[in-house]
Amino acid sequence: MTELEQAQAAYDSAVAERAAADKIVNDAAKKVIAAKRRLEEAKREAAAKVPVDRNARQLSGGGPVTADHREIDPASGQQKGYIVLRPDERAKGFVRPFRDAYRHLKCGKITTMSRDIAETYARDPEFYTGTFCTTCRGHFPVGADGEFTWYEMDGAEGPKVGT
Ligand SMILES: [Zn+2]
Repeated sequence: MTELEQAQAAYDSAVAERAAADKIVNDAAKKVIAAKRRLEEAKREAAAKVPVDRNARQLSGGGPVTADHREIDPASGQQKGYIVLRPDERAKGFVRPFRDAYRHLKCGKITTMSRDIAETYARDPEFYTGTFCTTCRGHFPVGADGEFTWYEMDGAEGPKVGT
């Protein structure tokens, strides 16, 4: 073989070795994704067996629930405060994936929420009966017949908020 032929053969061999290694990495990455999905589902099933204590509540951002928290701030249309489950209750496990944004089906716009409200939904999907739309500046129903769907972390349209 000439030097050119040998060099070509060595290059082809290295490329083939790299392609085989890439396939191993890609196959392993798919296994990790599948295993993670299974683990998260198992965690949600385990969390669902721990009853939610809805009395373990506080205001979003911290502090005890105040008598006037439902008063509407005329500037924003939002309540003075929103109730969430306490951190120790949320730490017992999520029964739904963590999601912090939803779409209002009436206007099509996305609203994002604070972490403690999002975690309350994940721990106890039916905790709230309604939620806020920042575009419509008002509160509307959630649940199976509600007006909101989850906006998934990858941008996909998720199930109804409150289910
Ligand atoms: Zn809206």
